[in-house]
Amino acid sequence: HTSRPVFGLSFSNCQMEEAVSWVLDSTASQTCRTAFFINANSINLAAENSALRSALKSSNRNFIDGSGMRLAVRKVGVQLADNCNGTDMLPQLCERMEASGKSVFLLGAKPGVAEKAAQSLRQTYPNLRIVGSHHGYFDDDEAVIAQINQSKADIVLVALGSPRQEIWVDSNKHKLEASCALAVGGLFDFFSG
Ligand code: UDP
Repeated sequence: HTSRPVFGLSFSNCQMEEAVSWVLDSTASQTCRTAFFINANSINLAAENSALRSALKSSNRNFIDGSGMRLAVRKVGVQLADNCNGTDMLPQLCERMEASGKSVFLLGAKPGVAEKAAQSLRQTYPNLRIVGSHHGYFDDDEAVIAQINQSKADIVLVALGSPRQEIWVDSNKHKLEASCALAVGGLFDFFSG
């Protein structure tokens, strides 16, 4: 893992396997660690949105979503080690959560979608511990955080779309008892079909 600033943000340039190991490493910190996937859209949004910029600056890891970013970072002399995007990470993460007994909570997308994604993931990973889910159209943060904490999830996947998901994770990470929260965009829609 190397980290160096590009576009004023610090990126984690690493292989997918190392990224997944980092997500699963519950011994790394007492508090909930956070990770985002950065693509060209995030860079554009962050240029105009100071809350997003600040969320990205204070996250533990900004993985580089290779689509569109490979060329952009090469221009500033960075060779991408891997394409660390959420869609490619999820299968590897699920496999390793299943093997290690780690549990996951799915937060986000329209009502019913996270449950559908959970069903479909359970078919592929029958021993995966999906300990809860909640849709992404809520106002009461505290109630949702209480539900996540009651589930005792190790990992929280947050799919509220950008920039809401990054800002939500950043503002609420101190209340989350999970070991890691990841913002995953439209991932539940993708895996529910
Ligand atoms: N979403 C949500 N709550 C919101 C806004 C969006 O749960 O307040 C969900 C939306 O249903 C979709 C996901 O966020 O499942 C990602 O949306 P989109 O594809 O627009 O975001 P991106 O992947 O571009 O970040």
